[in-house]
Amino acid sequence: MRDYPVVTDAHAHVKTKAEALERIREGIPTMVCGTDPEDARWVMELCHMPETEGILFPVFGLHPWYADQWKVEDMMPYLEKCQVIGEIGMDSLWCNVPLKRQKEVLEKQLQIAAEWKKPVVLHTKDQEREILELIRKYPNTYLVHWYSADHDLDGYLDLECYFSVGPDVIWNPAVQQVAKRVPENRILLETDGMDAVKWAWEEGQKSQNYAIEERESIRETTQKQPEEIVVKDSLHATIRMAAKLRNSSPEILSSLTTDNFFTFLRNSY
Ligand SMILES: [Zn+2]
Repeated sequence: MRDYPVVTDAHAHVKTKAEALERIREGIPTMVCGTDPEDARWVMELCHMPETEGILFPVFGLHPWYADQWKVEDMMPYLEKCQVIGEIGMDSLWCNVPLKRQKEVLEKQLQIAAEWKKPVVLHTKDQEREILELIRKYPNTYLVHWYSADHDLDGYLDLECYFSVGPDVIWNPAVQQVAKRVPENRILLETDGMDAVKWAWEEGQKSQNYAIEERESIRETTQKQPEEIVVKDSLHATIRMAAKLRNSSPEILSSLTTDNFFTFLRNSY
């Protein structure tokens, strides 16, 4: 498989030290999310491993799925420590947490982030319009992670949000639309962690839109032994597909997304 200069991962949940070590070994700068106080403690541990500097960047926020189990106050020590706040947002598809509670938790964290001038990573599942209205009240630098709705994209583009393209870009038309339309200074790549990649690729195999040219490389990757972690393969599949959709090349897109990754992080200095 071809190698591109550097690939970056703008959004990941890293569940094992082996995966963190792969990212360090391969030199894949990664924003690692800690979604509640316990998860944040784990992410801090990963980020204190040797040679993580310039590779693992912790991102902390109380995730909407856990908004009824914790208070924003429980998360405060971590919100203080990180450069970027997230992922925060609302979700009415993949969780049953009452939306009123999700909104309170989100809004409190949006206020804190704006006040402390820390950029924000957003989770918007099926609440795209509501969140768009809410963030208009809190001008800040926003990264919309894995946007996969077929509506309201323009609103977020108008606010000059960053977007990280998810691994289902190989088959999901809504994600392909994002990969096509995001300006070159706002596009990023993500895995969302290897569980999400596995999901995206399995779903893809059921889909007629599945990019035929990716079939072989993905089969190869999924047949690897479990201990061989495949972060880079996933990011390369995403980059090849996104480059194709943008009439660009993987090399160009790799370099753009790497620049954007560090520009987004620099907004927090
Ligand atoms: Zn996530």
